[in-house]
Amino acid sequence: MSSTTKPKIAISACLLGENVRFNGGHKQSLLCSQTLADYFDFVPLCPEVAIGLGIPREPIRLVGDPAHPQAVGTVHRELNVTQPLDDYGQQMASEHTDLCGYIFMQKSPSCGLERVKVYRDNGTPVDGGGRGIYAQAFCARHPNLPVEEDGRLNDPVLRENFLTRVFVYADWQQLLAEGLTRHRLLAFHSRYKYLLMAHSPAHYKSLGHLLGSMTKETHLELAACYFSDLMTGLSQCATRGTHTNVLQHISGYLKQVISADDKQEMQTVIGQYRQGIVPLVVPLTLLKHHFRQHPDRYIAQQAYLQPHPENLSLRNAI
Ligand code: SF4
Repeated sequence: MSSTTKPKIAISACLLGENVRFNGGHKQSLLCSQTLADYFDFVPLCPEVAIGLGIPREPIRLVGDPAHPQAVGTVHRELNVTQPLDDYGQQMASEHTDLCGYIFMQKSPSCGLERVKVYRDNGTPVDGGGRGIYAQAFCARHPNLPVEEDGRLNDPVLRENFLTRVFVYADWQQLLAEGLTRHRLLAFHSRYKYLLMAHSPAHYKSLGHLLGSMTKETHLELAACYFSDLMTGLSQCATRGTHTNVLQHISGYLKQVISADDKQEMQTVIGQYRQGIVPLVVPLTLLKHHFRQHPDRYIAQQAYLQPHPENLSLRNAI
């Protein structure tokens, strides 16, 4: 992704303030429509309007088997829009191949990702719920695409995790556009090593082995598997413990070049982060300060130090 191109994120149109809900209203998210709009190009989509349900409209709900629910009218049960919503999800998935993420409206029988209410024939909801019909059809065709519900983005850890994955996804799309070579794949993995270590030490190990077994002949086959596993690993949220481990590894590159007092200060700050006294941005700022004075080529290329624009301040709250 060039520095001037913003990653494209699809979003439930009602979250951008469009009056597309069944009652003619919206569910504007200030995070999306204000804070994030400077950093991403949003593609607003409303499947219920797109399939011709109109505004205002009779609300729909999910009924039946939570693994394969039907979307039917809440008043007129004979109104069944399961197939049109599924078809539209497939159509959007095949048309929008340049997306780097999708933010869905929670609880919607069309757009909801998790725990959407699914009703039994007797009108009582099934435990655990299901996924909206459109979201299911879309996500099945883009299994590695970072997706999240707007409500969950209020959690700073989930927000940082989702947006990190969006930027990694954009970087991978850029790599594919430039042409995937063995050398570029290894360089990509090298950049993301510490980030992956923070999210999933197990994936960090297994993907290292996977690429270790790569030859000139097999790199194209391995790449798809590599990226899928990378995105699975990154979808796990890093913890204070795993971040601390990575901070210790990175600070190890300074041990020959900074003074004993500076090393002590670094350890104190990393310890304070681990105990929840200061946010992640504090030890990272100190590390970056020392690396500015003592540059290290390997550390300078690590995405971990700044996986998303600094002004989003995503690491001030985790
Ligand atoms: Fe449209 Fe989805 Fe928003 Fe419902 S949740 S109004 S279907 S965009």
